[in-house]
Amino acid sequence: MGGKRPIIDPWGTTRIDDYSKLFKEFGIESIEPLVSKFPHPSRYLRRRVIFGHRDLQRIIEAIRDGQPFAVMSGIKPTGEFHLGTKMTAEEIIYFQHLSPKAVASYAIADVEAYADNGIPFEESAEIAVANVADLLALGLDPKRAYVYRQSAEIRVLKLGSMFSRGVTYSMLKAIYGVKQFGLYISALIQVGDILLPQLKDFGGPKPVVVPVGADQDPHIRLTRDLASKYHDQFGFIIPGATYHKLIHSLTGEAKMSKRTPMSYLLLSDTPELAGEKVLNALTGGRETVEKQRKLGGVPEKCVVYELGLFHFIDDDDKVRQIYEECVKGIRMCGECKCEHAEYVARFLKEHQRKRKSFIDAARKLLSQK
Ligand code: SF4
Repeated sequence: MGGKRPIIDPWGTTRIDDYSKLFKEFGIESIEPLVSKFPHPSRYLRRRVIFGHRDLQRIIEAIRDGQPFAVMSGIKPTGEFHLGTKMTAEEIIYFQHLSPKAVASYAIADVEAYADNGIPFEESAEIAVANVADLLALGLDPKRAYVYRQSAEIRVLKLGSMFSRGVTYSMLKAIYGVKQFGLYISALIQVGDILLPQLKDFGGPKPVVVPVGADQDPHIRLTRDLASKYHDQFGFIIPGATYHKLIHSLTGEAKMSKRTPMSYLLLSDTPELAGEKVLNALTGGRETVEKQRKLGGVPEKCVVYELGLFHFIDDDDKVRQIYEECVKGIRMCGECKCEHAEYVARFLKEHQRKRKSFIDAARKLLSQK
């Protein structure tokens, strides 16, 4: 790298092999000392799927002191919920339920969907209904949530335009690399999304936490920079963030990709199709049963194990048991995949039943904005 910091591309397929490098390169802090400060650490916290943070202490203090705070996230409405968007959604729901003083802000990033994927606003508005139904089915409390489409929220668009005076092309290039201008504009609007809960209309300024995947850090860095630049005008508190690991694609690449449908699970997949995907997924197994018995498998390299660890098995003891049986060579991949396929199918059946019942509520929630 010749001493230069690498560029993480939030719109690309950044592969991050060593998360600890992000501590050194970008100043993300380890989550380790803070996990025990949460009254009921989530599955993602307990298992260190969330591995890092910035300024999370402010949120922990707000919870302790019964002070208001916001948790903010969003989705680019380009398709159905997948495991990555499920993870972010569950994280905001977790923070929302940690305190009666917490509010959730959820942006439907339709400006970004247009800039990055060319999806017209009318089309992304329909996709958003399905996305919000997923969010409600996962447990979002709509009474303490603000869900909106970027293109319909004038305050966000105004903030984005104002922030364009606070950046130069070289700054954006240093953070994101050379991109088409629409992506820079949508990045500035996204800064508006993150800072929106701190406007007076929303009872701000107040601490905000943004749960993101490790590849989204450039947006957080830009936002923190602009929050500090515009502090005198708005009184912004620098927003914090939590960072989660990126789930591997079922076929083993760093990130799930829409180009290869068997590489990712959608929450709308039929349990049968999802089962088939799990059965075809990459494992950390050995070439032969004999070798597996002798040497054990490698769960650290196994996408099937990752599905249970990240998403589908809540019981920590069960995950530990799978790990130990795998490394000791007691567990074979065929049966293990079938077992995981059942966990996935059970989750999907229940989720899809709930989601259906939330479609009208999702439409209503979005029509308010
Ligand atoms: Fe993965 Fe299970 Fe095979 Fe171990 S036994 S490598 S956890 S599929």
